[in-house]
Amino acid sequence: MTPEVPVTSCKLLINGQWTDAKSGKTFAAWNPATQEQIGTVAEAGPEDLDAAVAAARAALEGPWGKMSAADRGRLIWKAGELMLAKLDEISKLETANQGKPIFESSKIDVPWSAGCYQYFAGWATKITGDTVGISPGSFNYTLKEPAGVVGAIVPWNFPVLLATWKLAPALAAGCTVILKPASQTPLTALKLGEIFTEAGFPPGVVQVICGPGATTGMGMATHPGIDKISFTGSTETGIRIMQAASTTLKKVTLELGGKSPNIVFADADLDSAVRGAANGIFYNKGEVCAAGSRLFVQESAHDNLVAKLVERTGKLLQGDPMDPKVRVGPQVSEEQQKKILGYIASGREQGAKCVAGGEKNAVNGKGWFVKPTVFTEVKPDMKIAQEEIFGPVLSVLRFKEIDDVVRLANDSCYGLASAVWTSDVKKAHRVARALKAGTVWINTYGIFDPAIPFGGYKMSGFGRDLGRECLEGYLNTKSVWVDLS
Ligand code: NAP
Repeated sequence: MTPEVPVTSCKLLINGQWTDAKSGKTFAAWNPATQEQIGTVAEAGPEDLDAAVAAARAALEGPWGKMSAADRGRLIWKAGELMLAKLDEISKLETANQGKPIFESSKIDVPWSAGCYQYFAGWATKITGDTVGISPGSFNYTLKEPAGVVGAIVPWNFPVLLATWKLAPALAAGCTVILKPASQTPLTALKLGEIFTEAGFPPGVVQVICGPGATTGMGMATHPGIDKISFTGSTETGIRIMQAASTTLKKVTLELGGKSPNIVFADADLDSAVRGAANGIFYNKGEVCAAGSRLFVQESAHDNLVAKLVERTGKLLQGDPMDPKVRVGPQVSEEQQKKILGYIASGREQGAKCVAGGEKNAVNGKGWFVKPTVFTEVKPDMKIAQEEIFGPVLSVLRFKEIDDVVRLANDSCYGLASAVWTSDVKKAHRVARALKAGTVWINTYGIFDPAIPFGGYKMSGFGRDLGRECLEGYLNTKSVWVDLS
């Protein structure tokens, strides 16, 4: 192994101080492109979590709770500004630890996160209750109060962005936040800790603790001092968190997995649909909860579309993710690479036809890469059509009529995202209404905005990230009765 290169502060951020874990334990952070260790990170134990919860509560009842909404908004805005000022540094760190192309971290993840802080900064002063006239003898008004101490548990596919999706609205709502990043990608979460400290947030408002989900994450889900868990990750873990959180009846919102259908009708602009299909599955090397991993193509357009898609897939540049021209980086870990290769083998065994990729890759003999892969002749009951692969593997299925495809598209335990490509406006909107998914894109794929709510139906979870709607998840409503008689 090459010598350790410390790239960022790898301690825990608790109560405004960078501290080692009480146990002294650490774990390694890796670069998936070079397979080198790039950091040693403090691993939080129960005592560290208790200290963070106590500091979060003190901040909530002290300086943060007493701060005006306008001042809170200014601080959140400042965090966004600092992110933009450090865009280069954060993007490189994200790419080094996650493997996503620098093109994506520097042009999308980091600037988009900054924009998210700036969007929610505006909300801090716009959270209001209602006045409700009941009868001449009384009236009622409602107060919107912060839900309290939030535990934010996030996955490794968009480390800085998904942490932001939790932090920005929770802070706008007046909550304090303990952030636990995924163990594979702790480095930019720690960088966020530096940003919040530099922006001038009072100690305890934003804290970052790293450690394994099974202990640190589960400790948060069961901790009586945490009022709400905002989780993004797999459906399996979401179920465990919900069960664990039930022991203290915490609020929970869950943003979970997906197997999103991307539906192309023969009357669509096929070149745009091909571009959307490729971006929908190969963006962030397929490590995307909303990936369009099931591509349904109407029979008469099937062969033409597949030919164009295979050509486009073959041109995608895979390689060193720090190279701005590269569009497909390595998977986040060896474990993820193996899991994806297992699905590719299962596709072949179950009779699907691999028309692009279908094997691992390496750059200078290093890196956990998987070639962008396309399967055709996929049947709806095959594993590659049912299970979330979370890698650059596309399953192409044929369909005949609108009703068939709606039934097939909805034949999934998931319901996160979906898309429909057609030049027929009525058909587009009919399908959009019939799909059981939290997001439907029409003639596009994978666009997001901080103002637009995102979340799942069915086993893709509940509650929403982003938009005005997500703020409700970080608020309690209090009814105040006034006797006028
Ligand atoms: P994961 O294994 O569920 O882990 C997510 C987070 O939960 C990590 O921080 C993990 O910590 C922690 N965790 C694991 N076990 C835990 C437990 N028992 N109690 C509390 N916390 C626990 O998911 P992942 O593999 O990182 O991410 C991929 C999944 O996330 C995919 O299913 C994807 O679809 C989903 N996702 C959903 C969305 C959305 O918005 N709906 C967005 C992105 C990703 P460790 O890393 O230490 O295990």
